[in-house]
Amino acid sequence: MVNAQDILSLCKRRGFLYPSFEIYGGVAGMYDYGPLGTALKNNIIDMWRRLYTLGEGFIEIDSETIGPEAVFKASGHVDEFADKMVKCKVCDEPYRADHLVDDKHPNAGALNEEELDKLIRENGVVCPACGGELSTVEEFNLMFKTIIGPGSGRVGYMRPETAQGIFVNFPHLYRYNREKLPLGVIQVGRGYRNEISPRQGVIRLREFNMMECELFVDPEDKSWPRFNNIKDDILRLLTNDGRELEISVGDAVAQGIICNEVLAYFLWLTQEFLEAIGVDGDRLRFRQHEKAEMAHYAADCWDAESLLSYGWTEIVGIADRGCWDLSRHIRFSGADMTAFKRFDKPKEVEKDSIKPRYDRLGPAYKSRAGKIGKIMEAADPATIQNGTLTIEVDGEMISLGSELFEVVRVKEKISGEKVIPHVIEPSHGLDRITYTVLEHVYTQREGQTLMKFPPAVAPIKIGVFPLMARDGLDEVAMKIEENLRLGGIETYYDDSGSIGRRYARMDEIGTPWCLTVDYQSLEDGTVTLRERDTTKQIRIPYAGIFNVVHEALCGEDLSAFEVASE
Ligand code: AMP
Repeated sequence: MVNAQDILSLCKRRGFLYPSFEIYGGVAGMYDYGPLGTALKNNIIDMWRRLYTLGEGFIEIDSETIGPEAVFKASGHVDEFADKMVKCKVCDEPYRADHLVDDKHPNAGALNEEELDKLIRENGVVCPACGGELSTVEEFNLMFKTIIGPGSGRVGYMRPETAQGIFVNFPHLYRYNREKLPLGVIQVGRGYRNEISPRQGVIRLREFNMMECELFVDPEDKSWPRFNNIKDDILRLLTNDGRELEISVGDAVAQGIICNEVLAYFLWLTQEFLEAIGVDGDRLRFRQHEKAEMAHYAADCWDAESLLSYGWTEIVGIADRGCWDLSRHIRFSGADMTAFKRFDKPKEVEKDSIKPRYDRLGPAYKSRAGKIGKIMEAADPATIQNGTLTIEVDGEMISLGSELFEVVRVKEKISGEKVIPHVIEPSHGLDRITYTVLEHVYTQREGQTLMKFPPAVAPIKIGVFPLMARDGLDEVAMKIEENLRLGGIETYYDDSGSIGRRYARMDEIGTPWCLTVDYQSLEDGTVTLRERDTTKQIRIPYAGIFNVVHEALCGEDLSAFEVASE
């Protein structure tokens, strides 16, 4: 297996990734995407976005990355979004406590402070840097805090996930969706987590890219219309009772291994997406969270994990968050974040209702009696305390004794009820996914590096070369290159060095095709097209080359375009 150092040095040399602020010594957990990395990442986003918007009919938003404290109090992040930390008592270096005992426990991430402390002491774990004694384990909140506005201002936080921006907009989005569930909303953007000691390239960043989907569903209906089409496809699962299974999506739900169809469908969709962008299916699995490991909001959670040189690594988290998020925002903001669930036919229900005694209200409240009576009728009988009903009338609180009303049983026809939608969340770590693709497509051929990107994600689609940079070959090649580029196909023009060297340079950045203009081109208007993975070369006419490359990008076999050589 390739090692991470080889990948990271290729990334830096060829312009995929650069350590941020390198001229100032860099900052752990911060990376910039170079030109090829940016293109690769954008192509991955494009494919993901298409899958969810065009494929599933979801909508996309783009919300703020800084939010006021109230939002993250409600979401639980201010109080609970913490990792367990130890510090070296000698050199002061901080560490994630669970990472220090990863090899001493099958799931150290699920242990509490005491358990981690015990494991560290029992195994004599010391500071990996200087051998010093370690402090006791404490919690470290991962939120980046800031101030919104001048002066003391208002406390704000950089968002640790894009999800909250979707939740707080739920009432707007629900209305936009014409008050229908299910409602799928996606967002691509940055998240910020003040990680304790990021050390593994782009796997653990302090500022990272996410592609998140929040799917709002009827809490009582977690079936999924397209489930039947995919139920025979196979998933590789690692359950939280330790079973490793290759099982069909349908069986996983039928046997209660995955808790509902929606969650299972999105495990499947995640697998489809990851394999389409170049993640190796044999190095991909879904691991179910242990109860103790589950985030504070999750009812069930599966991580898509890829096998990397760092070991099995979470790249996507797919959680059933129940009604946690919306309930919390209802509680903290007072806003109505419910959905209205219409019954098939109206139901007649019996309920308690307050009936004002107008004969007594009149003498007591004179001209205000009518208004007070109306407010009493609308009041909830559950708010009556010790026989007294308190209501607000024109800003004044009025307490009304039981002699002024009766509680009666009434029949009412209702057409539906308010429900708090449940949320299924596939949350994709874009940097980890991009890195996984880089590791999984990495191959060596005859001592040369070959990146086998699927054409759709390859940063450059076609290299265009004149055999020689003279005799008019370069002019023809430049014209072809311009024609492709202006048509929207990413190209790379290269006229230096041998053709073999030029092919090698393109192989190293995963360009699927290379086109060479040679002397024959000037005579018969054909060029050679070389395919990266097979190194097969065919001759094709260069008039209409744009369509040929376009067809190739759609997966067409290029031999159909081959012209017989004389
Ligand atoms: P979570 O909300 O913790 O489930 O995170 C969602 C996804 O974001 C994970 O599956 C990871 O792929 C990714 N992720 C989480 N933390 C980081 C980080 N510090 N750096 C890079 N990616 C991360």
